[in-house]
Amino acid sequence: MERICSIIEDETQKSWSLFRASNQVIYTGGINKMTESIIQQKSCSSCQQTQPVSSFSNNIRQKDGKDTFCKKCQSEYHNQWKANNSNAVKQIAANRRNRLKIKRLCLHCSVNPAQKFKSCCERCSKKQAVRRKTYRIEQTQKGFCASCLKTPYLVNTVKSFPLCETCYFKQKARRNLGNGLFWQQIKAKLEQQNYLCPYTGEKLILGVNDSLDHIKPINHFPELKNDIENIEWTTRAINEMKRDRTPEQFLSFIQHILNYKSKLGIKWNNSSCLPKESLSITVSV
Ligand SMILES: [Zn+2]
Ligand SMILES: [Zn+2]
Ligand SMILES: [Zn+2]
Repeated sequence: MERICSIIEDETQKSWSLFRASNQVIYTGGINKMTESIIQQKSCSSCQQTQPVSSFSNNIRQKDGKDTFCKKCQSEYHNQWKANNSNAVKQIAANRRNRLKIKRLCLHCSVNPAQKFKSCCERCSKKQAVRRKTYRIEQTQKGFCASCLKTPYLVNTVKSFPLCETCYFKQKARRNLGNGLFWQQIKAKLEQQNYLCPYTGEKLILGVNDSLDHIKPINHFPELKNDIENIEWTTRAINEMKRDRTPEQFLSFIQHILNYKSKLGIKWNNSSCLPKESLSITVSV
């Protein structure tokens, strides 16, 4: 034990004198935790700044076990190289992917076997899910869309999963037309309608009262399910009332109610469910 201590002392002494002589780390005794904790600084050969050794990555090829560039310079150098050699970067990534796919290994850690029908192992996919969830929460707290995480979200969309305008349209298109790619067409429809419900004249507000209606109900016209021409924006209340009726059936259904009520002699000119600007319904006998 005494001998080991004296060796460490000798080594430490040696490295200190070298350090003082050159003001740089030229320690040649390999990675020795004790001496490393004493020698705490090293000069970067790129930015020429003397920095703590913790600012340098490990590199077993170097005599002192640390890179010659500091971490910041190293990453700048790598980013620069990647920017200048984008094709090579793609090729390297593709080669790696192919190699791992053949061996059926995880594309992330390249160590564990990949799951069935997935490209990564169970551990990595769990980690990734946690990371994605945390990032989503962070971004939504900052006011960004929970789907694309980039654009500010619409105030009125669901609080647990707020969406930006584009993602909102994409979700609507996916749900009603079976494909999110129709989002621009349904947006154009809404603009064509001037953001008004064709039945009540109410203003349609995204996330509040908007609803996409299949003009000809898909229960009776299943072939028109994904037909963009069969789509119209209405209020949610109207869509719920219309259900699987065609516009003609829906209007005659309302007419029927009005006729019946008027037969009973009921008059009204006020409807609290409609906004002030829309016409009030007056029924007279
Ligand atoms: Zn540096
Ligand atoms: Zn993995
Ligand atoms: Zn979005």
